[in-house]
Amino acid sequence: MMIKELNFALEVVRQSAELASQILKETVLSPFTKSDLSPVTSADFAIQALVGYRLGRYFPQDLLVAEETSTSLRVPEGKAKLNVVTRFVERFVPGIQPEEVCDSIDRGTAETGRRFWTLDPIDGTKGFLRGDQFVVALALIEEGEIKVGLIACPKMALGQGSATPLKGLFDGGSLAYAVRGQGAWVIPLKGEAPPVRLHVSGLTDPARAGVLASYEASHTNLDLVESLMKTMGLRREPWRMDSQVKYASLAAGAAEIFVRPASKSHPSAAKIWDHAAGVVLVEEAGGRVTDLNGEKLDFTAGRTLARNCGVLASNGYFHDLALEGFQELQKTGTGN
Ligand code: AMP
Ligand code: MG
Repeated sequence: MMIKELNFALEVVRQSAELASQILKETVLSPFTKSDLSPVTSADFAIQALVGYRLGRYFPQDLLVAEETSTSLRVPEGKAKLNVVTRFVERFVPGIQPEEVCDSIDRGTAETGRRFWTLDPIDGTKGFLRGDQFVVALALIEEGEIKVGLIACPKMALGQGSATPLKGLFDGGSLAYAVRGQGAWVIPLKGEAPPVRLHVSGLTDPARAGVLASYEASHTNLDLVESLMKTMGLRREPWRMDSQVKYASLAAGAAEIFVRPASKSHPSAAKIWDHAAGVVLVEEAGGRVTDLNGEKLDFTAGRTLARNCGVLASNGYFHDLALEGFQELQKTGTGN
């Protein structure tokens, strides 16, 4: 049933999103770089520490696979940063010491196993820094199957386009979650309200279908997205946003297709924490998710989706059309 797991995850993800909002409000963000040159903020570290710490208390046997390590905080030059991070984590874990913060972050350096959690503390770091979309994403995987997935979206009112009763409910952000076999749901990130069930859109008209894509051109292949849309007869401009808020929007019926081919310039394999929560959310909302060759996403290949080629998520109706379109483009040499 996963009730204990879901309740744990709902609480920690809600706190994480609150921590992210507080850090955003209170810190003059100065992006600093790690070895891969992507911007990293105090929020990444603080949230991973919070989730790692709580997991150690609630599910001490469980593994955590996440993006950050404490290496840059443990060196003398990282001391000031570590103190800042510790002060933020202390708001939710009173009395936590810097050493414990580092250990909690490093819980996330585990390898994947039979049962593990995967976390993106701030998914969409660049959006976060820009004041745009970002999410906190957490998922539980057992025997390669995603059992639970949560996406906290502080900047997205899911279901806003739909009729009442959703309107206005999620103005303080949305918390979308799914348990395998038990549907996809959304609750307000702030305040209390009964969960509302999420369903993908039933729209079938290609001229009106909405496509979701990465905001950052370097994370994907926008030429391929455009070619695919042309092949499929899709006319609307793609809706470009950072993070797994794209999966949440698809699950809530705000668009029909999410396509994420690998980047042409930086074709690294997709990280599992960038997709796991989103995949179960879309599937439980009645949609479909595969790679661009129609293969199931394989979460048993380690920290990346090394056995897959890109990601395609849809309301189901447009799925085969998109896969055929991609095959077509590959034949003509446009699909690489
Ligand atoms: P998106 O929201 O689609 O832009 O995806 C955001 C995620 O893309 C980040 O969390 C990063 O882990 C990941 N990312 C960063 N660089 C790349 C890249 N070159 N190719 C694929 N994913 C990337
Ligand atoms: Mg991410």
